[in-house]
Parts: sequence; C-alpha cells; structure tokens
Amino acid sequence: MAVLITDTCINCGACIDECPVEAIVDDEDNPTGEEIYYVYPDKCVECVGYHDEPACATACPTEGCIVWDVCAEGATCRDDISEEARTEHQPVVE
Ligand code: SF4
Ligand code: SF4
Repeated sequence: MAVLITDTCINCGACIDECPVEAIVDDEDNPTGEEIYYVYPDKCVECVGYHDEPACATACPTEGCIVWDVCAEGATCRDDISEEARTEHQPVVE
C-alpha cells in the first residue's frame, strides 16, 4: 500500500497534478465508488526518489486527509515511517 486519501477529502483537486507517478484519480474515477479522490496503492511510491515528503499531502489543504497505510511486500515505501504510523493510519502531515 501507500498513502491513503480519507473521507475528509473535499475534492479540491490540489493533489492530483502533484503526483509524479499519476497514482491519484478524482472522485469520478474512484474505483471504490466513494465520492472522494483515490490513490492507487500499487502505483504510489510515496514520492521516494521524487520528493522528501509525499507531494500530495503537502499540497492538500485538508488537515489529516491523507494518511499512511501499510506497505505491501514489493512496494516502494519510505523506510523511515513506523509500522505503527501505518497501521494506525496516522496523518502524513498534521
Ligand atoms: S505519495 Fe507521492 S507517489 Fe504517492 S500518491 Fe502521493 S504524490 Fe503520488
Ligand atoms: S488535495 Fe486533499 S482534499 Fe483536495 S482532492 Fe486531494 S486529497 Fe482531496
């Protein structure tokens, strides 16, 4: 997995163009059917190799909207984020 957009998303669109790997889709293309933006966990690389922090979360105006999710085996994930932060879905930026 990767970062996760939660239901506090206000569909403002600030994150989508910031993603270097086009892992984000808008509410209309959200495969879960929820009316919020969505991060494809198999595409998101947590901005490793692109930015010091996840660019989507930096751009997001909604506090605590984008959170850490567990890192799947084989996925590119930040190694400085604790398992606790991931399993508790702690905010990427407060
Ligand atoms: S963390 Fe980076 S790679 Fe992942 S969705 Fe956000 S901007 Fe895209
Ligand atoms: S920047 Fe935040 S609030 Fe705006 S669409 Fe992206 S996740 Fe939703």
